[in-house]
Amino acid sequence: MDIQFLFGFFAFCLGAIVGSFLNVVVWRVPRGMSIVSPPSACPKCGHRIRPWENIPILSWVFLGGKCSSCHQPISWKYPAGEAAVGLLFWLIFQRVFSTGLPLPTALGWWWFAGAMLSLARIDYEKGVIPNLVTYSGMVAALVLAVVFPYGRPAIANPADLNLGCVLSRPLVALLLTVGPSVVATRLAAAADCLFGMLLSGMVLGSANWLGSMALQSWRRRHDKADLPAEPLGWGDVKMLAMTGAFLGADACVYLLAGGALIGFVVCLIQLGRRKATGGIWSSLPFAPFFAVPALLWVVLGNWLYLLYRLCAPIQY
Ligand SMILES: [Zn+2]
Repeated sequence: MDIQFLFGFFAFCLGAIVGSFLNVVVWRVPRGMSIVSPPSACPKCGHRIRPWENIPILSWVFLGGKCSSCHQPISWKYPAGEAAVGLLFWLIFQRVFSTGLPLPTALGWWWFAGAMLSLARIDYEKGVIPNLVTYSGMVAALVLAVVFPYGRPAIANPADLNLGCVLSRPLVALLLTVGPSVVATRLAAAADCLFGMLLSGMVLGSANWLGSMALQSWRRRHDKADLPAEPLGWGDVKMLAMTGAFLGADACVYLLAGGALIGFVVCLIQLGRRKATGGIWSSLPFAPFFAVPALLWVVLGNWLYLLYRLCAPIQY
């Protein structure tokens, strides 16, 4: 069997397992519940899910989409979600493998994709961005950078525009000259991660801070109590910092633009459908919009660069 197929199959299975775990995360984290205990149970009869009833996709098929104890139907959304994450992990692996990037690159992108999917769902359903997901993502990105420095495109392939390492390139190049290469590569990878995290967090953080000042003075002058206190939540700022930690500083610039564009279009559609109200744009969650260009980035690359390549008359 060929190695790409075998690894691809492994990537799909891993994605399905992660997808199953994300179902738990999306339900429990915004409700302040532990993600490890108690073990999963049927929400209708409380029947504790046995290990063989917890195999992603397969268990649902073998159980005929019903709980083995009370025979109440289990939503098709569970296996569909698991399969979707499996497919996403498979796509990420295919990109890493086919472009010749080191395989550890997939580890960071898988973690990021899983975190981003759960944030999009939690923000859509509950309107919050849990710190547990964003902080753990930032720590994971930094640990992965130190353990697998070549898993970061800024180290493995800094000249590829499609990977977006332009902003951190001078810093990485400088640090690569410091001391023996074993230490220098890890240091440069960690610096690329921290630089992406701080810059992305600071850009959106300062925009949010300025925006909240403007909204405050607007509220005072026009006596509009229904205006939101901040244009975005601080959870969104942490989500951006996590993205910068995984994908680097460049990515955040493009993704923020992509997310804002999608958000703006959806906002216009919403305004067109209903009568315009003051609270409408504050009620729109940002994470689902941001997740679209973010997942495209890990599957395809820099969307703006690809668009340019597609439209440019001369192929380089
Ligand atoms: Zn049941």
